[in-house]
Amino acid sequence: MKPQPKPYILGIHAYVPGKSSSSDGRPLVKLSANENPLGTSAAALAALEEARGQAAGYPDPDAKALRAALAKHHGLDADRIVCGTGSDELLNLAAQGFAGAGDEVLFSARSFAVYDIAARRCGATPVEVADKDFAADVDAMLAAVTERTRVVFLANPNNPTGTWLPPEEVVRLHKGLPDDVLLVIDEAYVEYCDPAFQRIGFDLAAGADNVLVTRTFSKIHGLAAERVGWATGAPEIVDVLNRIRGPFNVTVSGQKAALAALGDEQFVIDSRTHNAAERARFVEAISALGNHGLSAVPSEANFVLVRFEGDLKAEAALAAIAEAGYAVRHLPSQGLGDALRITIGKSADMDRITATLRELCGETA
Ligand SMILES: *Cc1c(COP(=O)(O)O)cnc(C)c1O
Repeated sequence: MKPQPKPYILGIHAYVPGKSSSSDGRPLVKLSANENPLGTSAAALAALEEARGQAAGYPDPDAKALRAALAKHHGLDADRIVCGTGSDELLNLAAQGFAGAGDEVLFSARSFAVYDIAARRCGATPVEVADKDFAADVDAMLAAVTERTRVVFLANPNNPTGTWLPPEEVVRLHKGLPDDVLLVIDEAYVEYCDPAFQRIGFDLAAGADNVLVTRTFSKIHGLAAERVGWATGAPEIVDVLNRIRGPFNVTVSGQKAALAALGDEQFVIDSRTHNAAERARFVEAISALGNHGLSAVPSEANFVLVRFEGDLKAEAALAAIAEAGYAVRHLPSQGLGDALRITIGKSADMDRITATLRELCGETA
């Protein structure tokens, strides 16, 4: 006899992170995890330096200063905010708090791999709904809701496709859900969108009892190493997450760095501007290879899903890009065998990737 793991836990395929080295062990420039190519704001780095001397003490369990700053910055109520060890923790807690054995957790196909894990971790049944044009299909999602559905996850913008559901579609999804189904809107990449569209989740969460919006400091704020995420929703939802989260779930350095990063608006603007310009340039270069079967899925995020439907296959492109020194993401397990997800990096790196693809297509400059 030995300890028997729960069968639903054995049903989980552990999250596979983006690569940072080639198969022969060479280090690669990582364009596989949607990290910020501009690094981290100088203010946040200074805060990290300051936190180095404070390793012996526990962090503030309620991240009060950070929550107050987030509330002020976004015009929210601090009592409606909970911080997490990355937004990853909060996504898992949302599933655990509201779903369990016999319940269903709904999400779109070709969406964030963590939703399936979050559903299985609490013994619930993950239900994947077919997407449409690489984006969540609101009609199909609503049609898939049953009396067992407890939680619906929506990544907006979506990872790994980069597509974005406009505000009226998010509202339509929410309107069509029963009041007792929790809609979790995962906005890890929303800061890369036009600022005019960034409040849709907040507005919904402010006016409904069944919406939770998650955000992260991992992407545009360049603090993935510190593991800081946060969520806002009705006080009753936040209360549930507070009951089951780790009591000291955000480190001293994470809280301080996030607070400083939030105050460095210029870094966010610079990151968004760099991303928009480089993404447009990259998409144009891919479109110019359209006669070779390459295309870019329209992206509102800091990465582009490039499809390979001609003689050049995604596997061959992946190998050549690795040979050139870059790790990008191939996700055949998510039904994306003919595509690569490429994070928008520095200008010179995007030039190298583009040159590699042009060369593979026989379009030498
Ligand atoms: C990167 C990402 C996150 C952020 O995860 P953290 O745990 O906050 O680092 C959340 N959702 C999606 C869709 C992501 O791609």
